[in-house]
Amino acid sequence: MGRLMRRRSTTTTDDAAPAPAPAPEPETAAERRCCRLRDAALSRNVRVRFLFDEIAKLGCDVGSPFGFVRCASVERSGPLGDKMVGGFAVNDGSQKRYAPGVVVVAEHAPDKAVFERTLVHELVHAYDQCRAKVDWKSGAHHACAEIRASSLSGECDLSQEINRGVFGLMAHHGKCVRRRAALSLALAGRAEPEATVDAVFDRCYADTAPFERHPDFAGLRPSESFKVT
Ligand SMILES: [Zn+2]
Repeated sequence: MGRLMRRRSTTTTDDAAPAPAPAPEPETAAERRCCRLRDAALSRNVRVRFLFDEIAKLGCDVGSPFGFVRCASVERSGPLGDKMVGGFAVNDGSQKRYAPGVVVVAEHAPDKAVFERTLVHELVHAYDQCRAKVDWKSGAHHACAEIRASSLSGECDLSQEINRGVFGLMAHHGKCVRRRAALSLALAGRAEPEATVDAVFDRCYADTAPFERHPDFAGLRPSESFKVT
């Protein structure tokens, strides 16, 4: 279930052509379902829309969100398709044009909840890429990106366990983020994933940009948060 950063080529070589290539038509039932989930998320999911707005505010033009977010079956999503739910592709330096994109593996994101968490995860990567020009070859950069994406995507949201109290909730959340970030690094083939995550965890976990406060905890009020059952 790791979300991997992948590098892949773009087909565009013409610098003077800013419009992204149209997304390929869905071919399988899973791809069609994935496209419906994507269309709904792009028009209605608050976190998704907020991230697109913030990326634009930073000055990165991703083109049409419908072209930026692509649904692909396991077979059509590249060599890591069977292992990942979603991926964020960046240029590897061989292309002149900055043309990142998100791919969601249709069979691995079968419902709204999984799809939307995956999309938000990848959009946090896109935000970081725009904001900080992440060097994906650097272990510290990659770990930081995965910590932020796992933390801010809702993957570790335990709202159903709200009555455990905010401290228990946040401790669990941090542990979950640590584990998922290390898993993403391991799946990407990086050595010593846990140590790499630990080295940058506190700083990157505390960075909730572009959200003013952590979105999973923003709704908590002290009177509710400290209820213990
Ligand atoms: Zn990731």
